[in-house]
Amino acid sequence: MRALVGTAVDCTGIKTDVAVIWEGGTIVDVVPRERLGDYDVDEIYGGRGYLVLPGFINSHTHVAMAKFRGIGEDLPTPQWLSEIIWPAECEWTPREIHRWALLGMAEVLSNGSTTINDHYFFAEEIAKVAEKLGVRAFVGQTVMDLVDFPMAAPEEGFRFFKRWNGKNPLVKPTLAPHATNTVSLELMQELGELARERSVLIHVHLAQSREEVLEVKRRYGTTPVRYLEKAGVLGKSLLGVHGVYLEDGDVRRFGRSGATLVHCPVSNVRLEARVPQVMKFETAGANVALGNDSPNPVGLMDMFQEMRIASLVQGITAGPSGPSGARKTFTWATMGGAKALGIRAGLIRSGYLADLILVNGRKPQFLPGENLYSHVVYSTRGSDVEMVFVNGEMVYRNGALPKLGKTLEDLWGEVEGGLSPQSP
Ligand SMILES: [Zn+2]
Repeated sequence: MRALVGTAVDCTGIKTDVAVIWEGGTIVDVVPRERLGDYDVDEIYGGRGYLVLPGFINSHTHVAMAKFRGIGEDLPTPQWLSEIIWPAECEWTPREIHRWALLGMAEVLSNGSTTINDHYFFAEEIAKVAEKLGVRAFVGQTVMDLVDFPMAAPEEGFRFFKRWNGKNPLVKPTLAPHATNTVSLELMQELGELARERSVLIHVHLAQSREEVLEVKRRYGTTPVRYLEKAGVLGKSLLGVHGVYLEDGDVRRFGRSGATLVHCPVSNVRLEARVPQVMKFETAGANVALGNDSPNPVGLMDMFQEMRIASLVQGITAGPSGPSGARKTFTWATMGGAKALGIRAGLIRSGYLADLILVNGRKPQFLPGENLYSHVVYSTRGSDVEMVFVNGEMVYRNGALPKLGKTLEDLWGEVEGGLSPQSP
């Protein structure tokens, strides 16, 4: 058995000075620290002043896009995609994807996420990287048929799904249609049938830009949410990402279906200078999760940053009396993601997955410590995370990635060395 000692914070409450004990991949108990001796614990980490949190669930990301960080920023979404991102993506090879996914996933992990939900090309390589690092990962091969983009060919999406379905309990395939304006109704219907047959998740970009909404209207004479409904994919197994340009009727329809809105606040602010009406989604019955989107345009794959910005911008869109608040945002980043992906994670209690992070709270910004939800959301950075455990296994410790046998600096050196041949 192993234990983390500190103040345990999850979205249901705060327990001061406790030991979180687990065996294998499951939490077995959370007890006052002085009762630690009742258990046969081999390894104990943390101590006074440390925070034990559920690992974050990054419910929408493209980790390999670490390669494009900072490139073409400040362009509107359609231009950013068609002029910068898509041409650059045409150059991908499996080897390059592997290299950058490793770097990106290590970044995500070291900043406190234990689960990712990735949506990208060469998904095979992303899945292999997740296995190497020990990350819990949901991985979808991006598919589209209304844009000529060979690496997003639908057959490859189906092939990837078949290869990885049931292969590794930590790495699960999803179905990943690109967006409502790049995938035909027929293909979306086909994906929906497979999703129902195999009880698998559908992960799709939804109303990220005005152009997307207009294109769906032009092609099908309807809205993005009605299009998803018509295709038979609107429901609890759907993760719709962004939802920035949905009107109230669509928000209600989406919410009634029990689908998940994955809110990516930093990406939305940078690309669209606008965020979805998240509270309306929640009121309508939708589940809400948080995602990091890609390092371009977000810049940093750190869920503390996403929570902080989500809380701040929600205060602007919902008004001072109705902001989401730190605790709510924290809930989206933990329980909301777990619910969306159907995993027993996001809470620190017995029977839940031992997907845990240890934050060093022995720093000035963690005092006075009266409102820890506020401290976690507004005062913590990914760099305050000292350890990360997934399924009970240590996968990150102060810059080191034990499963890989390398450090973050090693990975940086390997990639940076390839970028500049003259460097030592
Ligand atoms: Zn995205």
